[in-house]
Amino acid sequence: MLQNSIKYLKGIGTIRAELLEKELGIKTYEDLLNHFPFRYIDRTKFYQVKDIRNINADIQLKGKISNLQETGTGRKKRLTATFYDETGDIELVWFRNYKYIQSKLNTNDTYIIYGRPNLFNRKINIAHPEIETLEDRQKKAFLKLQPVYPSTEKLIKKGFSTRLWTQIMTALFNEVGLNFKESLPENILHELKLPDKNQALFNIHFPQSLELLHKARTRLKFEELFYLQLQLLQKNLHRKRKIKGHIFEQIGYYFNTFYKHVLPFELTGAQKRVIKEIRKDVKSGAQMNRLLQGDVGSGKTIVALLSMLMAIDNGYQASMIAPTEILAQQHYKNLKTFTDKLGLNINLLTGSTKKKERNEIAENLINGNLHILVGTHAVLEDVVKFKNLGIAIIDEQHRFGVAQRAKMWRKNTIPPHILVMTATPIPRTLALTHYGDLDISIIDELPPGRKPVQTIHRYRKDKLKVFEFIKREIAKGHQAYVVFPLIEESEMMDYQNLTDNYEKIKKFFEGTGYQISMVHGKMKPDEKEAEMLKFKNNETQIMVATTVIEVGVDVPNASIMLIESAERFGLSQLHQLRGRVGRGAEQSYCILMTDYKLSQEARIRIETMTSTNDGFKIAEVDLKLRGPGNILGTQQSGLMRFRIADIIKDAPLMRTARQYAYRILKDDMNLEKPEHQNLKFFLQKQIKETGFWNLIG
Ligand code: ADP
Ligand code: MG
Repeated sequence: MLQNSIKYLKGIGTIRAELLEKELGIKTYEDLLNHFPFRYIDRTKFYQVKDIRNINADIQLKGKISNLQETGTGRKKRLTATFYDETGDIELVWFRNYKYIQSKLNTNDTYIIYGRPNLFNRKINIAHPEIETLEDRQKKAFLKLQPVYPSTEKLIKKGFSTRLWTQIMTALFNEVGLNFKESLPENILHELKLPDKNQALFNIHFPQSLELLHKARTRLKFEELFYLQLQLLQKNLHRKRKIKGHIFEQIGYYFNTFYKHVLPFELTGAQKRVIKEIRKDVKSGAQMNRLLQGDVGSGKTIVALLSMLMAIDNGYQASMIAPTEILAQQHYKNLKTFTDKLGLNINLLTGSTKKKERNEIAENLINGNLHILVGTHAVLEDVVKFKNLGIAIIDEQHRFGVAQRAKMWRKNTIPPHILVMTATPIPRTLALTHYGDLDISIIDELPPGRKPVQTIHRYRKDKLKVFEFIKREIAKGHQAYVVFPLIEESEMMDYQNLTDNYEKIKKFFEGTGYQISMVHGKMKPDEKEAEMLKFKNNETQIMVATTVIEVGVDVPNASIMLIESAERFGLSQLHQLRGRVGRGAEQSYCILMTDYKLSQEARIRIETMTSTNDGFKIAEVDLKLRGPGNILGTQQSGLMRFRIADIIKDAPLMRTARQYAYRILKDDMNLEKPEHQNLKFFLQKQIKETGFWNLIG
């Protein structure tokens, strides 16, 4: 019956059914059942006219009406009335339908009105209030909390009022009755004191009390999160149990020698913890799939190297890939200083590697002479074959993604262990859903002795002072970035803006002998890289750029990051940009330059940046400001359409759901036990309906 088309439901019919499908995607009885109110009006609470001065919300009043009259002419014609109680009066106003309204209202009757007060010409009014007589209300005495359903402009225009929604839901429950199949295990309901499915569904649409409503909502949120976690964990367990991984039995010569004699510093506590987590994975017999999150400069590279040495100690090869050529080169040089001391062979493969060298690499990969291959996407190509790839490290997850991870997998019959490293912190709650099938390690500690970057907010009018400051810093031998926002509407304007500013900066630094680089989106990748290299080698002292420099460039001598029109950048971008400085021993500065006028949100972003350097804190604020869909980029947006749960507010519930899901799956991964058949049924139903979760991982 739940699969019935809503057009058969009393009070709907074909026209409304079509509208509901078009506007809200509601087709079946079940869709309607799952169309939950997003808030409730407390019908037991009344305000008095004297109390409403400072209220910016819908309120309910009880009183009488006088002075009902049409005023104005032509387009300004409207109906007004005075509404009063013992404590004062306000104005009611209607712009439409007023003939009908006029005919319905009596000046002697007491009414209950509902709406949002506005201040207009120093007088409070309510436009198009909902109006009921006391008798109307008596008939609905049971309705203490009136649900408000998600709707659209069009539906409201076509008469989908709060009242109509309630009528529809009443018809639905009358027809289907209260015998929904329970979808959560008895013991969970019991342990978490959650109401059963019938109670929950009834109370979400017809709340009998605030308490019952709260319980109903909790239960439905839990259900949603629980089935999501079942799905993600099932995948995770499947990978761990079914997909065999290389076993790195021993910690051997290379790891130990490096650790004892080559490593130039003590590892931080966080680095040690992560190494242990990785160590545990690679000897477990299952394939590792781990996400390593750590802020810029937290020392992920050493962790990657130590992981690769584990593989080499056990006779396997290792590979590390980065999203750009310059990053790959950087890693290569960096790693080579260490591996040379260990007598290991390492090489670099990128798009610009020459044919001859390519062939050499290919040969040494296949015969096993090459221990580590660093590179870009070029490594992913099918022609690149290893003798026995044991571990693959992927730097900067966001530029690669799922498909590439899979390509790495296929480089062996037994897939290599995979370590994905990202410097864009993802709040824990989000990680649990989006990377719920990966294991997560976090480096939440910076190496000692770093001077935190000082972040300063300046208004545009102080630009000259800021430039003077930059001049002084460069005179000390440092370098500076000047970053402009991308003008997304037009590439041409963007280019124009950047070159205009470039000219201004050039003029200001005229006579100093300082050289200026410029990098922008219109340049070809190799031109871009050549320009970046100049900056890296201190042949140029100032780098003027759009956000193309965001990812991973390492120029320890750069101590200033000036971000122009900082109000136009998102938080995670600002944080990434700031991470470009503070890499050397000197004090570094991030200067956020903005206009005087700032939106509320921009102000929060700037204040967040000046008050903390902690990437996770910043990510949490970002999540609150923008919502989860945006954080993961357009590619994945839309994935987070929860029916009722809220990924931020319900984080604790998510963790509980995950624990319960794990408890069930750890002994019965495929839900084969008789007592899990019901779960299996609902899980498959959910996978069918929300197939998009399958895209992840
Ligand atoms: P990221 O996490 O951004 O990739 P890197 O691995 O590039 O960071 O490390 C940043 C710098 O910190 C490097 O110069 C590295 O040698 C240094 N470093 C890493 N770990 C430590 C440590 N435990 N103590 C001191 N310096 C460290
Ligand atoms: Mg790095």
